[in-house]
Amino acid sequence: MDHSAEPAFHPRDRFADGAQYIAGELRPGTSGTRHTVIDPATGQAVYEYELAGTADVDAAVAAAREALPQWAGATPGERSDAMHRFAAVLAEHADELAHAESLQCGKPIKLTTEFDVPGTVDNTAFFAGAARHLEGKAAGEYSGDHTSYVRREPVGVVGSIAPWNYPLQMAAWKILPAIAAGNTIVLKPAELTPLTSLMFAQAATEAGIPAGVINIINGAGKVAGEHLVGHPDVAMTSFTGSTGVGKRVAEIATATVKRLHLELGGKAPFVVFDDADLEAAVNGAVAGSLINTGQDCTAATRAYVQRPLYDAFVAGVADLMATVRVGDPFDAKTDLGPLISHAQRDRVAGFVDRARSYATVVTGGEAPDSPGAYYRPTLITGAAQDSEIVQAEIFGPVLVVLPFDTDDEGLALANDTPYGLAASAWTRDVFRAGRATREIQAGCVWVNDHIPIISEMPHGGAKASGYGKDMSAYSFEEYTQVKHVMYDNTALARKDWHRTVFGDR
Ligand code: NAD
Repeated sequence: MDHSAEPAFHPRDRFADGAQYIAGELRPGTSGTRHTVIDPATGQAVYEYELAGTADVDAAVAAAREALPQWAGATPGERSDAMHRFAAVLAEHADELAHAESLQCGKPIKLTTEFDVPGTVDNTAFFAGAARHLEGKAAGEYSGDHTSYVRREPVGVVGSIAPWNYPLQMAAWKILPAIAAGNTIVLKPAELTPLTSLMFAQAATEAGIPAGVINIINGAGKVAGEHLVGHPDVAMTSFTGSTGVGKRVAEIATATVKRLHLELGGKAPFVVFDDADLEAAVNGAVAGSLINTGQDCTAATRAYVQRPLYDAFVAGVADLMATVRVGDPFDAKTDLGPLISHAQRDRVAGFVDRARSYATVVTGGEAPDSPGAYYRPTLITGAAQDSEIVQAEIFGPVLVVLPFDTDDEGLALANDTPYGLAASAWTRDVFRAGRATREIQAGCVWVNDHIPIISEMPHGGAKASGYGKDMSAYSFEEYTQVKHVMYDNTALARKDWHRTVFGDR
């Protein structure tokens, strides 16, 4: 594949000093194990680096610890100014960031240019502003003898772990609320996608955010990840990834009594009632299931369509999926890039191949002839609700469609998986929409759309999709510690309540 349209960006040159960013400098890892970053569109190696060992995690945590007093002690206005500069520097590097993200993930360049990078810049600007709005409960005399108020303080050094599907945005979601609230951080991105998290941290340094406030450790989950979660100097773990790994992270965090924020897997339902705008629902289902080649924790994965619209919906989705242009991520016309890796492609193909014995593959279900990790948009019908293809998180360009009869049935099916991250309801009836938004168990319910996110609104799950929020001012609940301060107002040596311990009134 010819990537001739790309701007010059060479990870081998840019990260020649290594893939660990500690105290404001790149350095190589010390694990003794090397990792190769593959361009999933071509199968070719684009960068090789030494993974972080436990000593690198220790060094990063020490750097974050050293930077903490100064950063936590800065005024909200000072932190805000630095983060506004950070947003401006990121915007200056927009083309390079989009390029690197497309290169390491295989994302279409129009997606990284129009979504990943501007979303990250906007998130940075949002948290630059939000940094000045952190507040506790105003002082009050809740007991006649005392004045109480609440201080909202940083929790300390945060250790975060991110997945590979949106590496730049995940770095932003983990780092921004943490540092806006005065914490310092060590982030471990996924091994497959180290590049844009490093660039994000470098942009922070360029903007004047002090060395050690943001540190990036690129290492293996079991080695660097587990060491970071268990580290005694890390006050909090924020993890985004699969539910399986999240459970392991929770075990380690619990053993060290850490605050924990878990953003886990999803299996979002897409419920189409019989009064819905069919064309809007078809377009929404195709866009919502194929965005980022389906590797999106909120992607539409299970469409439940009320019987009168079912046949037309299936036909419409199949026709539209056939028009999606699969190809070179660096071609501005490409709609769908490869999956993140050949292993992920094979995993997705495995789910579809097993489903052939109990369901119908209406379209797709195959990999095009290419050295890249491509898989065609795939539509499946006829699967039972309790089948693997309906219940498991596939994380690929696969949509399953099932019919339903009554509204009760549609909503019950929507809630019938272990996950609860996101969902959508498609209807023109305000009462149906209201009922669906109340009854669907999920961290986000869209009405007549599926996927959009905004910096001002929280993202996070229910049920096995985890707990806690990314983005928005709600994320400060995870990244701040609420401290009650209580002043005695009586100046009495012997307080009234002492009689419950000694003497009488
Ligand atoms: P993953 O769980 O395999 O890995 C996520 C991260 O955890 C990686 O950095 C990995 O190195 C690390 N890790 C692996 N084993 C570990 C261990 N034992 N201890 C500590 N860290 C460990 O997930 P993935 O395959 O990278 O990403 C896909 C998953 O992420 C999907 O399940 C998706 O739904 C989820 N996701 C969720 C959200 C959300 O907001 N809820 C957002 C994006 C992705």
